[in-house]
Amino acid sequence: MSLNHVRPWRNIYRRKSRQIMVGDVAVGGDAPIAVQTMTNTLTTDVAATVAQVQAAAEAGVDIVRVSVPDEASSKALKEIVRESPVPIVADIHFHYRRGIEAAEAGAACLRINPGNIGDEKRVKEVIKAARDHNCSIRIGVNAGSLEKHLLEKYGEPCPEAMVESGLEHIRILQDNDFHEFKISVKASDVFLSAAAYQGIAEATDAPIHLGITEAGGLVSGTIKSAIGLGNLLWMGIGDTIRVSLSADPVEEVKVGYEILKSLGLRHRGVNIISCPSCARQGFDVIKTVEALEQRLEHIKTPMSLSIIGCVVNGPGEALMTDVGFTGGGAGSGMVYLAGKASHKMSNDQMIDHIVEEVEKKAAELDAAQEAAE
Ligand code: SF4
Repeated sequence: MSLNHVRPWRNIYRRKSRQIMVGDVAVGGDAPIAVQTMTNTLTTDVAATVAQVQAAAEAGVDIVRVSVPDEASSKALKEIVRESPVPIVADIHFHYRRGIEAAEAGAACLRINPGNIGDEKRVKEVIKAARDHNCSIRIGVNAGSLEKHLLEKYGEPCPEAMVESGLEHIRILQDNDFHEFKISVKASDVFLSAAAYQGIAEATDAPIHLGITEAGGLVSGTIKSAIGLGNLLWMGIGDTIRVSLSADPVEEVKVGYEILKSLGLRHRGVNIISCPSCARQGFDVIKTVEALEQRLEHIKTPMSLSIIGCVVNGPGEALMTDVGFTGGGAGSGMVYLAGKASHKMSNDQMIDHIVEEVEKKAAELDAAQEAAE
C-alpha cells in the first residue's frame, strides 16, 4: 500500500507475507486484501448457488466459498465453477475424496485440513490433485474443532493450541513440497481469535485469511467482526477476509468492504459520511441516507459523499468529500463539489440531484484513472 507522508497516523504497515493465487486473484504480498463470502444455498441447487455467487460478485466479492459435503455437491461444483465470475473455494471437511473431486471440478482453492483427512497416502492424493489442477489450499484451524491431542495437551482451546494445530497442518503440506497455501485460525471469541492470529502471523509467512467464526446476526456479527478483524488489520495482519454473519452473503461482502474502507485499506463505491441528525437538521437526514445508499449501490468507483443536516458540520465535512450536501433551512440546502460550495438545491429534488452529481463525478474519476493507466 502507499504510505501517507502527510498524515502518518493513518499508516498501516502490512505484515510481509508470501503471495499465492486463488484462481486469478492474488492473495498475500502486496495484493489488495481480498473480500470473501460463502454461499448458504444447497450446493446441489446449482441455479440458486450461482445466483448467490453472482449477487455477491455484483457487490464486489473477490472469492466465494461453497460447501462440498457429498459427491452430488462435487458434481454440482463443476457447473457452479463454470458459471461463476469469481474463483470458487471448495469447503471440505474430513472427506479426502471430496477434496480430489473438488480440485478436478475446477475449484480454485480447497479449504481442507491435511491433518484431518486420514493416512499419508490420502493426504498425498489430495495434494497431488490440488497441484495437478492449479488449486491452492486454505488450512482452516477452528477453535471449536481442535485435534484431540492438542486439547489434551492444553486443556482447552487456546491461542497456543490453535497455532500449534496450524503449524502441524502447514508441516504436512511443506513435507509434500506444497507451498500454495494460506491459513486461518478462527474462533467465535474475539480475544482468542486475535491472539491466535497474532501467534500464527509471527510463526509463518503464509498469507492469512481472517475471520471471526459464527460471529452472529447482522448487527452483532458486524460489530464483533469490526472489532476482531479491525484490530488485526490495523496491526497489519490479514491478506483476505470473510465476515461471517447469519445473514445474506451480500451483507457479508458489504460489511467486509466497510471494515477495509474504515481503515483506508481498500476502497470501493461511495463512502457516505453522514451526521446522526438532530433538531437542527434542515432535511430528513436518516431517510435521505437510506435512499442514497440504495440508489448508489451501482457505483463502484471509490469516492466520498457527505450528507449533513445543517451548517454546524456540513461545510467542514464537505471540504473533504467529492460531493456534499448540507441542509440550510427554508426547504433547500447547499451542494458542494470537490469541497467547494457550488449551488443551492431544494430538498424535494435533492436525492435525484445528488445521484446525478455522484454519477457524473464517478464517470470523471473513472476517465482520469483510465488516462493515468
Ligand atoms: S450536523 Fe447539524 S443536524 Fe447533523 S447532528 Fe450535527 S447539529 Fe444536528
